[in-house]
Amino acid sequence: MTHNFLSPLTGSFAMPAAENPTVAMVEAAYRHHGLDWRYINCEVAPEDLGDAVRGARAMGWAGFNCSIPHKVAVIAHLDGLGDSARIIGAVNTIVRRGDQLIGENTDGKGFVRALEAVTDPKGKRVVLLGAGGAARAVGVEMALAGAAEIIVVNRSAARGEEVAQLIDQQTPARASYQPWDGSYAIPEGTDILIHATSVGLFPDVDSMPDLDLSTLRPSMVVADGIHNPPLTPLLRAAQALGCKTADGQGMLVNQGVIGIKYWTGIDADPEVMRQALVELKL
Ligand code: NDP
Repeated sequence: MTHNFLSPLTGSFAMPAAENPTVAMVEAAYRHHGLDWRYINCEVAPEDLGDAVRGARAMGWAGFNCSIPHKVAVIAHLDGLGDSARIIGAVNTIVRRGDQLIGENTDGKGFVRALEAVTDPKGKRVVLLGAGGAARAVGVEMALAGAAEIIVVNRSAARGEEVAQLIDQQTPARASYQPWDGSYAIPEGTDILIHATSVGLFPDVDSMPDLDLSTLRPSMVVADGIHNPPLTPLLRAAQALGCKTADGQGMLVNQGVIGIKYWTGIDADPEVMRQALVELKL
């Protein structure tokens, strides 16, 4: 019997890298689907990123993720970008296509896929809280998925205006910026409220974005990007009112599903991947 000891390689470059659970989720999917693939979590300092990408290229990696602080810097080392990654201006998933390394962004795609289990973004009026890397990706993908209007609400006006302008000018959706000073009143007629700031991120789990909760309506869908823990105080308040919700764990899992599809061509089972995170108590 002949053996093949050459496992296809994937992984992640980030700093810090140790607390990133993606490896557990992706390798659970590889095992479940009988793929002899590896996902190697690597701590890569900013000054070493070029060497790391050249290393991945030399070793024939099928692809890899990039997280903080490499999502923008990695672009200089790639051969091309997918359509939404070009608009977003950041890459979190690199895919080898032939001898080229192409940058994609699955942050927003994973969010939209998770949200679609609850509601169709097409024609919807969206309020997007935040204008950082995650919000930018989510806003662009919501627009590309057919959202009609996106209001970007952010503490820093400069970042908020930039993201609103980007969506308005480079996608079919209308977008505008609203300042976030004091408790934000959600406009009447909003269909989907998305929280994409870092407020409430572990260990600060009791913090809640500053919203006037009396303006939340049961007809609104509420989505949160925070994945640890997935049931945030905002989602709990929304569920108590009868709103449908989508959590950050769904976003994380679906990002992984999309990445695995890019690399292997396989449709990974999201339940297996979610279960891997649940077992880690994330
Ligand atoms: P960034 O640092 O790029 O952006 C942070 C955002 O949060 C900015 O809009 C910032 O506003 C805002 N913010 C921070 N503190 C406050 C505060 N006290 N009040 C109001 N706004 C605040 O981070 P990312 O965009 O990369 O990440 C944001 C969140 O999304 C994180 O919690 C991350 O874990 C989550 N995420 C989840 C993913 C998933 O798969 N579930 C994937 C990627 C990210 P300002 O511009 O004013 O500073």
